[in-house]
Amino acid sequence: MGVYTFQLEKFHIDNTRALHNDTDTVTFGLKIGNQQFSPLFKGMGDVNNGDHSVGLEFSPVIINPSTEVVLSYIIVNSGFPGSHEGDLHTVLDTLSDASEKVANAVYPLGPVWPIVNKIVHALNILIVADCDGPVAGDRIPGPTSTDQIPANTLTGAHLDTLISGAGGTFRLTRFYPGTDSATGCGSNSKYNVTWSVNSLPAQDNWKWCNKCQVLAYGDPGPCAAGGIHDHTGSGNYTLVHDSPIAFSSGTLGQNNWKWCNKCQALAFGDSGPCPAGGTHDHTNSWNYTLAHDSPNVLGQDNWRWCNKCQVLAYGDPGPCAAGGIHDHTGSGNYILSHTEIG
Ligand SMILES: [Zn+2]
Ligand SMILES: [Zn+2]
Ligand SMILES: [Zn+2]
Repeated sequence: MGVYTFQLEKFHIDNTRALHNDTDTVTFGLKIGNQQFSPLFKGMGDVNNGDHSVGLEFSPVIINPSTEVVLSYIIVNSGFPGSHEGDLHTVLDTLSDASEKVANAVYPLGPVWPIVNKIVHALNILIVADCDGPVAGDRIPGPTSTDQIPANTLTGAHLDTLISGAGGTFRLTRFYPGTDSATGCGSNSKYNVTWSVNSLPAQDNWKWCNKCQVLAYGDPGPCAAGGIHDHTGSGNYTLVHDSPIAFSSGTLGQNNWKWCNKCQALAFGDSGPCPAGGTHDHTNSWNYTLAHDSPNVLGQDNWRWCNKCQVLAYGDPGPCAAGGIHDHTGSGNYILSHTEIG
C-alpha cells in the first residue's frame, strides 16, 4: 500500500495550432484498478507559445502494489465562446467521454497520441471552428515500453520503482507533434506536456470509534463513552505523516496532528483532556497532515476537530473527555482516505 499524488504540471507550446493564440481546455484522467475517477478540467483561455502551468492533481490516492494504474490527458484547442455556459458544459461533457474512451481504448504498438487524436476528432462537437482540434493527448501506460514506463501494465509497484529511481518525484515530459489543420490555420502545433507522480509517507490502521466518534489507532484505547473504543463498522483509514508537501497544490493541508499513546486518538496541537486520565501524551508520535475544505481531495469528509478535547471526530458530536459532548465549533471540514483501491 502506498499513497500517491498525480499532477498534470504544465505544458509548453513551441508552436500554436491556430495562427496566433490557441484556446485550450485540459482534461486529466485517472483510473485505479476498476475505479475511474471523475476527470479534472482546466480552461486555459487564450495561450501562445511558452510555458503554461496547469496544476491539476489527484491526491491522495491509495494504491496497492499489484493494482493497475492508468493516466490519461487531452488538450484541445476549441475556441468555443467561453462566456456561453451551455457550450462550456457540452465541451466538458464531451471531453469527459473522450477521457474515458482514451483510458479504456486498446492500442496497437507505437505512440498513443495519433490514436488519441482520432478518438477526440471523432467527437466532432468540439471542433466548432476551422483551426480547432486536439493538440496533445496520451494514455499511460501505452502498448510500447517508453520513457521507463512499462508496456501495457503500470502497477503501484512500478510507480514505487519509478519514484525511488527519480529520487522522490518521477516527472515525465512528452512531445506531441500536431496534425494537419485547415488551410489558413498556420503550421502544425508543437506541444510538450509534463506530468509527475510522487509518494507520500503514510500509515494505515486508523479506525473510527462508534461510541465517542474519534479516529484512533490500532487496538482500542480508553474511550470517553466508557470502557474502550469500539471500532466495529469502521473502515481502515490512512494518514499522511511528516510530509510538508502533502496536498500542496491548491489544497489546504494542516500539520501538527498527533497520536496519543494513552487513548490512541488523533488529537491536534500540544495537549487536551484524555479519557485515559490527565492530558493526551504525544510522545513518539509522527506529525500527521490532514486535508480539509477542498473539493479536490479524494476521501470521506465530515471529520471535525473538538475544541475541548482536541481530537478528530466524525459527524455529530459524541461523548467528550472534557465532559459533555465534543464541540466542533471553529473546526474545518477534514477529509480522510479510507479505501485501499484494488
Ligand atoms: Zn471511543
Ligand atoms: Zn489521549
Ligand atoms: Zn471532545
